[in-house]
Amino acid sequence: MGVSASGKSTIGKLLASELRFPFFDADDFHPEYNIKKMASGQALNDLDREGWLLELNDLARREPNAIIACSALKEAYRILLRKDLSKEVHFVYLKGSYEQIYDRMTEREGHMMPVSLLQSQFDTLEEPSDALTVSVSLTPETIIKQIMNEINPKCDFGLIGLGVMGKSLCRNLINNDVKLAMYNRFVAGVEEGVAADFKQAYNLDSSAAFEDLEQFVESLNTPRKIMLMVSAGPAIDHIIEELVPLLDEEDIIIDGGNSHYSDTKRRMEYLNKEGVHFIGTGVSGGEEGALKGPSIMPGGNQQAYEQIKPFLEAIAAKDKNGKPCCTYIGTEGSGHFVKMVHNGIEYAEMQLLAELYQLCRFGKGMQPEQIADLFESWKAEGLDSFLLEITANILREKEDDKYLIDLILDKAGNKGTGNWTTVAASQLGFPATMITAALYARYVSAHKESRKQAASIFRFEKSSALDCSLDDMREAYRVGRIINHHQGFELIRSASDTFAWNLDLSAIAGIWTNGCIIRSELMERLIEPLKEALPILLQRDQLTILKTGRENLTALNISGLKAGFNLPCFTAALNFLNGYTESKGSANIIQAQRDYFGAHRYQRVDDHSGKTYHTVWSN
Ligand code: NDP
Repeated sequence: MGVSASGKSTIGKLLASELRFPFFDADDFHPEYNIKKMASGQALNDLDREGWLLELNDLARREPNAIIACSALKEAYRILLRKDLSKEVHFVYLKGSYEQIYDRMTEREGHMMPVSLLQSQFDTLEEPSDALTVSVSLTPETIIKQIMNEINPKCDFGLIGLGVMGKSLCRNLINNDVKLAMYNRFVAGVEEGVAADFKQAYNLDSSAAFEDLEQFVESLNTPRKIMLMVSAGPAIDHIIEELVPLLDEEDIIIDGGNSHYSDTKRRMEYLNKEGVHFIGTGVSGGEEGALKGPSIMPGGNQQAYEQIKPFLEAIAAKDKNGKPCCTYIGTEGSGHFVKMVHNGIEYAEMQLLAELYQLCRFGKGMQPEQIADLFESWKAEGLDSFLLEITANILREKEDDKYLIDLILDKAGNKGTGNWTTVAASQLGFPATMITAALYARYVSAHKESRKQAASIFRFEKSSALDCSLDDMREAYRVGRIINHHQGFELIRSASDTFAWNLDLSAIAGIWTNGCIIRSELMERLIEPLKEALPILLQRDQLTILKTGRENLTALNISGLKAGFNLPCFTAALNFLNGYTESKGSANIIQAQRDYFGAHRYQRVDDHSGKTYHTVWSN
């Protein structure tokens, strides 16, 4: 409602489309007599309007879910409009000053109400006390938002677990205009008012904060969309158990933590029986990524995903072409599997940089800042990546006159995803040797006390005269990274084939080009080649790099090992490349040994039928 030209039709149509209700313009229901009267410059009186209002009341009776744009200027008119209606009627009053409306009327043509009648409209107007009053000076989008909030105060998305990641994701969702409900558990004396405090600290006024799970669930529109950002493991099962009795069929739970893909499959099967959808999604990018835009890897039921897609795409990082770094991965726990391999690739990428740092620092005698310069210079050589960049930044960091890196204990932690990737690769029979080497390097580092003891006994010296060049290092790094990416993507392909997930490797590379820890120039270059069914190492583009780069990789390894350095990832890369590219290997000895002690049989090179043989070995 509102005077002529207050924007009733524009707002009404937008609202109708938002709510998927039919729209009616009350002007279309005026009898001929009223139209003529207004056109002749005469104002309508109460009697003129009565029949028209009753006609609209009848319309509202026939169309109980409808948006009607009607001036409804007097309280008596509004009483007539809502007379005997069984459903709730909301009035939205579009309020503007005489001057504002006058300007609008003079700007528009062809309206049946002449400008001269505007004053009579304002004279007639009795402002409603029970309507939502909205200023006409706001944009139509803001007006619609205000109206929607009024008629439907429930939230569209819920997030459980306000830890590091949960808080950042909440802020990201709210920044993207999502009506959000936030929940953190209540533990007396330990975790109290977490959600409310967080809401207050960041002025998240549009959101709702809870520590009562039932109220949280009740605050959500159905089908509910609830994202869990809690510690992976039993906490997830625990929350699911608490949630299930409160949910309705078709509600959707999204686990955004680093859960194991087999747990995700198990939870999905359990929740399916309860009629609740479960989406397991990888979220990469750490705290900052979660706030500014992570890379998101959702897996599970595709129809359920379509319902949460607008939320996930809104908060995801955007790639070079502005596309969200979020794509439906596949069924079952495939989203979490892909996130797990992402972390595995990350382990090896980090380890390669750690090994390079050691060679430069102690084999070449370079200062951390010089190594930072070197790494930065590689950005222009096609090696740009988030991890290279942050490593250079780390090497420049000082505390007083000391490099911070020298004050950090050389004992690597881990949260288990590298371990899972290594186990999964083993179970699938796929040689993800660089990820495994990087994981074991962390384990070796973690045994600090034993290392110190052994160092004092053996007293091995590292030579400070490393005889490979900085160019060797750069090219070895280039090749090492290609091999690491080859192994990571082939591991995903292997799982996809085994579990019939039908994963799109190119799309996965696409969502890894921004927002996540392994974003890099190389990842961008892999999008096209990964459209082919051919593994990365067999792609023509890589041939020259690998052929010449192998020499650099060999030089780095030989000189590094000779000088006494520990190079688990670079040696794994070279060994894999050598093994992968040899048509005749040493496994004939293994087969013979197996047959010798266990009669495990072997195949012969001169028989292609697949037949197996056993030898009665003479000794
Ligand atoms: P935090 O430790 O910061 O937060 C964990 C959250 O889980 C807290 O809100 C905690 O509540 C809640 N929680 C733990 N146990 C329970 C339980 N039994 N019942 C209810 N709530 C519980 O972890 P992060 O935010 O770092 O990580 C969350 C998930 O995201 C993990 O799976 C993690 O692996 C994954 N992840 C983390 C990344 C990172 O960079 N940190 C990156 C990508 C994924 P309370 O405060 O009450 O204890």
